Order: sequence, then structure tokens, then C-alpha cells
Amino acid sequence: MPLYNLNAVVIKSQNLGEADKIVTLYSSERGKVRAVARGARRPRNRLRAGAEVFTYGSYLLFANDGLDTISQCEILESYRALREELERTAAGAYCLEVLDRLTEEEEPRGDLFPFLLAVLHLLAVGRDLELAVRAFELGLLTRLGYAPELDACVRCGAAPGEGAAMSPALGGVLCRRCRPADCDALPLRGDTLAALRYLARAPLTRLELLHLTPAARAELGCVARALLRAQLGRDVNAAAFLALVQAQGR
Ligand SMILES: [Zn+2]
Repeated sequence: MPLYNLNAVVIKSQNLGEADKIVTLYSSERGKVRAVARGARRPRNRLRAGAEVFTYGSYLLFANDGLDTISQCEILESYRALREELERTAAGAYCLEVLDRLTEEEEPRGDLFPFLLAVLHLLAVGRDLELAVRAFELGLLTRLGYAPELDACVRCGAAPGEGAAMSPALGGVLCRRCRPADCDALPLRGDTLAALRYLARAPLTRLELLHLTPAARAELGCVARALLRAQLGRDVNAAAFLALVQAQGR
């Protein structure tokens, strides 16, 4: 079966040699796949648009011993707004880097692909991009099995009430009494905890129902970043650029 078809989004695109690209696709069928797009940097090459980051398309690939080769591509959605508006570009690039870093090749997850398409749509047309990014982070961690425990203290099982904290190292919330168990635990307001629960479970189409105070919004950003850092071992490269663009937009 040398030829196969993938419905996929380009999550990374790197130059190779003089005119080629190595494209990282995230597909519904096989999860993450890397492939070569020969000639994709030439002006009139038929694979040029299909090798651009954010493109969603139907790809025909040729299996090789090494990296597979893209033979044909039919573009289904190019997400132009993600390319043309700086804050959308920054938010989209951040989300794709997180997805790339948290997933292994050839490990498909049933509901991750439709979730990715829904997030890209939201980032292309939505108004609250900061909240969309938070929803992506929480939704992705949940789908990959890294969801933080939000309902009971990870140490004693009590309901987290006043004075609770988030411990990324221990994998969830600590109640006020257990909080000293992790001196790096982050303070967690009640409304931030409620927002975390909402983002981990609610569909992306209902994000506008979540209203956050500036304080809860800021705290949510710190918590999400710490949860991701606990999984990745370091910060996301695109995070600094996204923060800069969002600060300028305020
Ligand atoms: Zn406890």
C-alpha cells in the first residue's frame, strides 16, 4: 500500500534543501505524520499552499522507507485569517507548537482531530483569543490524559474550598490544609477553579458563556502555563511572542 490518504492540518513546516519542505501533518487517521513536500518552495508548485502552516487539506502520500512524500493535496480550508491577522497568527502558532510538543508520531487520538479543527475555526473567527487559547490548553491536556484533578484535593480527597491551590507537580488541586505539600503550588481563586472546570469540559462553541474578571483571567493564564510546563519540562517557544502581541493589543 504505497499510496495513502490523510485528512490533515499542517502544524509545522520546515525548509529542506533548496526547494523542498518537511511538513508535519496532524491527521485524523494516523495522528502526527512527517512528510516531504518536494518543490513546495517554488512559486508555482502545486504543493505550495498545501505545505503552509494552518492549512487543512486532503493529502495523498507515498510511503517510503524514510520520510513519506506528499504526492497531491486538495485544500479544504486555508484559515486565511490565521495567516493575515497578527494576534490570530500568534495564537494559532502557539497552539500548534503545544500540540506538536505534546504528541508523538503515529499515535492517533479519536477526538483530537475534530477538536483541532474546532480550535482553528475559533481562532480564525473568535473575538476572545486569550480564552480560546486557554480552552485549547485545557481541552488538549484532557484529551491526552493529562487533565489536572479539579474536583478533590489530590492529597486528602477533600473538596477544594477557600485557600485552595493548584499543584502541577502533584497533578491537581490541593485543599487549604494540604497546600504546604507543594511549596510551588499556585494560588487558586474559586472563580479560577470554576473556569478551569468549565474549560476542561465545555464545548468550544460555548466559550462566550464564561465571564471572567481580569484577576481570574490572569490567574488562569499562570495556571495553564504551569500545567503545560509540568508536561513539557519547559515553556513553549511561541508563548513569548503571543504574550507580546496580546500586550500590544490591550
Ligand atoms: Zn487536602
